[in-house]
Amino acid sequence: ARNELAKLKDLPAVTVDGKHFELCANIGTPKDVDGALRNGAEGVGLYRTEFLFMDRNSLPSEEVQFQAYKEVAESMGDRPVIIRTLDIGGDKDLPYLDLPKELNPFLGWRAVRMCLDRPEILQTQLRAILRASAFGKLRIMFPMVISVNEVMQLKEHVEQAKQSLRDQGIAFDEQCELGIMIETPAAVMIADQLIEELDFFSIGTNDLTQYILAVDRGNENIAHLYDSFSPSVLRAVKQVIDASHAAGKWTGMCGEFAGDERAALILAGLGLDEFSMSAPSVPMIKKILREQNSGKLKELAEQCLKARDADAVRALVDSIH
Ligand code: PEP
Ligand code: MG
Repeated sequence: ARNELAKLKDLPAVTVDGKHFELCANIGTPKDVDGALRNGAEGVGLYRTEFLFMDRNSLPSEEVQFQAYKEVAESMGDRPVIIRTLDIGGDKDLPYLDLPKELNPFLGWRAVRMCLDRPEILQTQLRAILRASAFGKLRIMFPMVISVNEVMQLKEHVEQAKQSLRDQGIAFDEQCELGIMIETPAAVMIADQLIEELDFFSIGTNDLTQYILAVDRGNENIAHLYDSFSPSVLRAVKQVIDASHAAGKWTGMCGEFAGDERAALILAGLGLDEFSMSAPSVPMIKKILREQNSGKLKELAEQCLKARDADAVRALVDSIH
């Protein structure tokens, strides 16, 4: 079976009737690129840059960041790489930043909220990413957005970083695409407004599930309530995909849900364009999608949206699988 999966490496994730989905890998360091390529990923859908900032005593310099991003860009060649800006706070601490102890860290000073308040950290990272964009196909993605106003501020920061590079005569990709993660109910509800300012969305179901259900993703006492198959989560996913498509843009997913064998069938049926997951999951998800008919998956997704709970959703998927 392992052999059979290995043979799929260079084949596209295309359904029997010819609908193509982009399968990408999530990575945390440049070392992970190997595994992504070995498993046949068509790109990197999420490069979590937090690891560059962790296990150190101070912020990484622009040069240190540039080298890491450049290494990933170069080794992926013409395959796209989505770099997510620093997503710290919540459950992820950086001791040297002296982050405040908060009562509700997941509702607190995290991700772009922190970066917008500490613009020197954001500028350094944006300059490093943009410089690396001259060496491959990089895209920039911001986590935990809740408003159009945040997007406008973030875009101003990107423009500022670009201008400083132009002034210094440093090369970068002027067309570098900008996107955000959809991780909050707020972003789902204004997805149509947000997409007007952006090139793409990537749904972060790990956080989106916790915020839609109001269930802490790390609390064992309520772990049984944390379920991305909940129709409420599926409806949010549909709303986001539809909003992006109405604007002629695309939506990916980089939460764990994208690499789930049952979920992938529903997501394909909802029209998700790109799936990003841990590299070892890529071959199996590819195999599953290649066995399906896109019309059938669309019907399945429509039924799932009408199901009354997560167990009913799973039962629907199992009935066709
Ligand atoms: C997510 O929230 O789904 C996600 C991919 O981001 P992280 O797991 O790093 O919070
Ligand atoms: Mg997240």
